[in-house]
Amino acid sequence: MIRKRHAIDLMELSFAEDAALFAATDEYDELGFVSAIDWIRFNCHMTSGAAADRVAVGQAMNRMPRSVEAMAQGEIGLAHVTIMARTADALKERFDERPLIEYAREHSPGKFHYFCRHARHAADAGGYAADEVDQVENRRLSLSSWIDGSMVLSGVLDAFGGAALRAALEPLARRSGDGDSRERERRLADALVELATGREQRASLQVTSSVETLLGLAGAPAADMEFSLPISAKVVERLACDSSVTRVLLDSESTVIDVGRSRRVVSGPARRALNARDRTCRWPGCDRTASWSAAHHVVHWIHGGTTDLDNLVLLCHRHHWMVHEGDWQLVRSDDGRMLAIPPTVTFGPPARAPD
Ligand SMILES: [Zn+2]
Ligand SMILES: [Zn+2]
Repeated sequence: MIRKRHAIDLMELSFAEDAALFAATDEYDELGFVSAIDWIRFNCHMTSGAAADRVAVGQAMNRMPRSVEAMAQGEIGLAHVTIMARTADALKERFDERPLIEYAREHSPGKFHYFCRHARHAADAGGYAADEVDQVENRRLSLSSWIDGSMVLSGVLDAFGGAALRAALEPLARRSGDGDSRERERRLADALVELATGREQRASLQVTSSVETLLGLAGAPAADMEFSLPISAKVVERLACDSSVTRVLLDSESTVIDVGRSRRVVSGPARRALNARDRTCRWPGCDRTASWSAAHHVVHWIHGGTTDLDNLVLLCHRHHWMVHEGDWQLVRSDDGRMLAIPPTVTFGPPARAPD
């Protein structure tokens, strides 16, 4: 594999040389493409990023002869050379490959990239800061709703903003508890929602629901929530369980009978007592802290449950979701431990005993 990778890298270098020669002409224009990179992307079946990298390497080759030689000797790879070329491009006449190549010989492309960023800052702090400003100016986030109400996110963040987002999401995206088989992308998405709704009553969502909806009566309409399609009684039940939302309850005549967090709120002393008793989410194996958890009513207040400590248990937002919408059951065993019981799965009607 090492020999093959070296041979591929040499071919890539030769390809990069051709790509730069091609980019120096306007042949792409005659062929009907908007740029040389565009022609390469389409005809050589590459991503535009990969095509741009090859052109950059080809254009910088005469400015980094030692790097090209080190690659020919198999001391560094194409990935190093690409980073070197990008650095040469950014630093213009201040570029000097000699200190960089020593580092490249000893380190992986990832570490080398990091090192080159430092080198760029050292050689041109002003330009580096200007790049950062550009990145911030280019921050984008688009939110578009699908017909079923689900939302597609796409966007770009600057390096700092991206790191800040990751720092906020990663702790929330860790696996939690027994049997957490969510894939990483799912966990990151859950973490983003948790960030937006979580941490004790920070989000100010407003939910409007009828009592019939909350009681799950047949024929009841769905509940309304800002920025969302109508939501089911199960979602309302979870949101109303702990008061991380402002809720407006309507009776059958659409008269407002309850607004906000009065009475059922587990707040102040009661919440502090609950936090002190449970400390973390009580789901078996989960250690999400109290500030990222909700006060779950074992018997929901809509069904007459109280807000006494006996009827409350701390659950992180994911496990709270699993109890309400996921149909998991959480029961306290005789010795006070919590047991999580998965939803029963049925396959069609029960089999009949043979006659
Ligand atoms: Zn609950
Ligand atoms: Zn949990």
